Amino acid sequence: MATPLSPDAFLSILRSEGVKTSEYAGWRGRERDAATGKAFGPVHMVVNHHTAGKNSRDTVAKTGVPGLPAPLAHIHLAKSGVATMCSAGRANHAGLMAQNSYRSFLNETATHPDPSKASGTVDGNDCAYGIETENLGDGKDVYPHAQYDAWVRINTAFCRHYGWSAESVAGHLETSVEGKVDPRGPVEGYGDRGRFTFSMGQFRRDVAERLKHSASWAPGAERTYVVVKGDTLWSVAVHELGDGARYAEIKTLNSLKSDALSVGQKLTLPKK
Ligand SMILES: [Zn+2]
Repeated sequence: MATPLSPDAFLSILRSEGVKTSEYAGWRGRERDAATGKAFGPVHMVVNHHTAGKNSRDTVAKTGVPGLPAPLAHIHLAKSGVATMCSAGRANHAGLMAQNSYRSFLNETATHPDPSKASGTVDGNDCAYGIETENLGDGKDVYPHAQYDAWVRINTAFCRHYGWSAESVAGHLETSVEGKVDPRGPVEGYGDRGRFTFSMGQFRRDVAERLKHSASWAPGAERTYVVVKGDTLWSVAVHELGDGARYAEIKTLNSLKSDALSVGQKLTLPKK
């Protein structure tokens, strides 16, 4: 049974994972449990969002939007990488989730189907932690390096605490039956990786990699990449290092005689 974190425990797991935190005034008592008569928990997953606005912290933590009272997430994540605590209880962020996608995160399956309303729905606010990450969501606004790094750390902190895999990490677009598109947009970089486009697949791989290390680990140095289905040496170079120019370097470093890779194979990626 995954019981929701107390406010103190919530802060503690984030700080242990190297996340800079800030406490929004009144956050420990701000929740939607009493108003809805529905208690938060048990918790089974994390749902990630972009705010689709600027200076959204007050909106997420306190004021809400017309028809949707705050808190609108448990954490607001600023461009600077600071996580502001908004609630440790029920929050209005996930809305209705499709049953089929809900089950895929609950059961941590390797793939996650597109949300199908026909499969039925569950109230995502019952069972999911929500993170609102500051970004316009216009496909142009960039997630800075520090923000993405903190985002990975926050999701990892939940997984580490509850013993979840990265397959418990969802994007709103993967669960919503209302056609949500968040999160999306360009990322400045992560570790040694240059600019790339946000995707939940990559994000989960980054959480999974972090989970293999201690909470004090920082990405960026020479590291090991585990080959997944569909990878080619070229795609690993492009996705892991940000461009294809490092292709030959990976090949040399690993003494590879051909481009053929097998699932599970470990590659050492060069330092930048
Ligand atoms: Zn959302």
